[in-house]
Amino acid sequence: MPLSCPICGKTAVEKYTPFCCKRCADVDLGRWFSGSYAVPAVENDDDPDEQDAVDTPEKH
Ligand SMILES: [Zn+2]
Repeated sequence: MPLSCPICGKTAVEKYTPFCCKRCADVDLGRWFSGSYAVPAVENDDDPDEQDAVDTPEKH
């Protein structure tokens, strides 16, 4: 099972493991350097109320 990028949640690529791209790796690095590796601003995609809008692009 592939890793998920801790920054954006996309599938990580081997080159930038555990990130998906250089940008996310830089973001993570910047957090460490700034000394504020606290709570990342991750969207809550476990909200059941938004499941219809997000997961099923069906016709109206
Ligand atoms: Zn990413």
